[in-house]
Amino acid sequence: MPAQVIDGKALAQAIREKISEEVHLLEKDTGIKPGLAAILVGDDPASAVYVRNKKIACEKAGLYPQEHLLPASTSQETLLKLVHQLNEDPRIHGILVQLPLPPGMDSQAILHAVSPEKDVDGFHPVNVGRLVTGDPMFIPCTPKGVIQMIDSTGQDIAGKRAVVIGRSNIVGKPVAMLLLHRHATVTICHSRTKDLPGVVREADIVIAAIGKPLFVTPDMVKEGAIVIDVGINRLANGKLVGDVDFGRVKELAGWITPVPGGVGPMTIAMLLQNTVESAKRVAGK
Ligand code: NDP
Repeated sequence: MPAQVIDGKALAQAIREKISEEVHLLEKDTGIKPGLAAILVGDDPASAVYVRNKKIACEKAGLYPQEHLLPASTSQETLLKLVHQLNEDPRIHGILVQLPLPPGMDSQAILHAVSPEKDVDGFHPVNVGRLVTGDPMFIPCTPKGVIQMIDSTGQDIAGKRAVVIGRSNIVGKPVAMLLLHRHATVTICHSRTKDLPGVVREADIVIAAIGKPLFVTPDMVKEGAIVIDVGINRLANGKLVGDVDFGRVKELAGWITPVPGGVGPMTIAMLLQNTVESAKRVAGK
């Protein structure tokens, strides 16, 4: 039987509607409107689209969006000054620095400058540490969305074999940590993994976060597995595809996420959720 497709767009839409109600109530009760500042340095077209989509999502859900579009020639000092200003700005509850930053910028230094209390991406070492120790303040948006998509299947994560392909700080590692906290038995694969297909074949839950089009093929997937595709790849013909060969893997997986319309929309919904949580914390709620 073909897999059930996990509709990230519909899930994200439902979450955004709930967020919109929460924002309305929070403002009514406390006068606080959750504010999200997005910083984009340079003119990377994909990053510009992401930042624009995040701004539109903020507006639609009733949050206060602030956009800072800086030229690629911006100095590190100027960027740090802006981050410090936003750290102090009471209208702002979340700060997002769109990655990648232009070459020559020290991304670590910039991300470390964001106040951990406003670090809605969850990239600051304080938030990474809190995630690892099981006391998270902000859970990184894409990994948080991935877990909610798995939960939407109604399957219990506890005791399942989960294989995460990719070990980046923004996706692979935090997803693995979240699955571990939910009592999955977790394996992380990467470019040096021996017999990767054999390892992935053992998985009840597969998370693909590689950045290679159609990398996960049916021979790597156990029948009935939950397959979450984080990858976003643009083919030469302009088509957007994930890391999973969706058309063929869906014939044997139990559940599968599409690209586009899967993890991407959930990531934005989680960003709004983190910003609202931050504003509620400030409001003492
Ligand atoms: P990175 O490039 O930082 O990491 C990719 C990982 O994949 C690395 O750990 C790398 O291994 C591993 N890898 C690469 N090639 C292979 C291979 N042949 N076999 C096994 N492992 C391999 O990517 P990100 O984690 O930032 O992103 C991954 C994908 O997810 C991208 O397509 C990105 O666009 C997408 N993405 C989507 C988001 C969304 O909202 N939907 C959000 C963030 C990312 P090694 O460490 O050994 O080099």
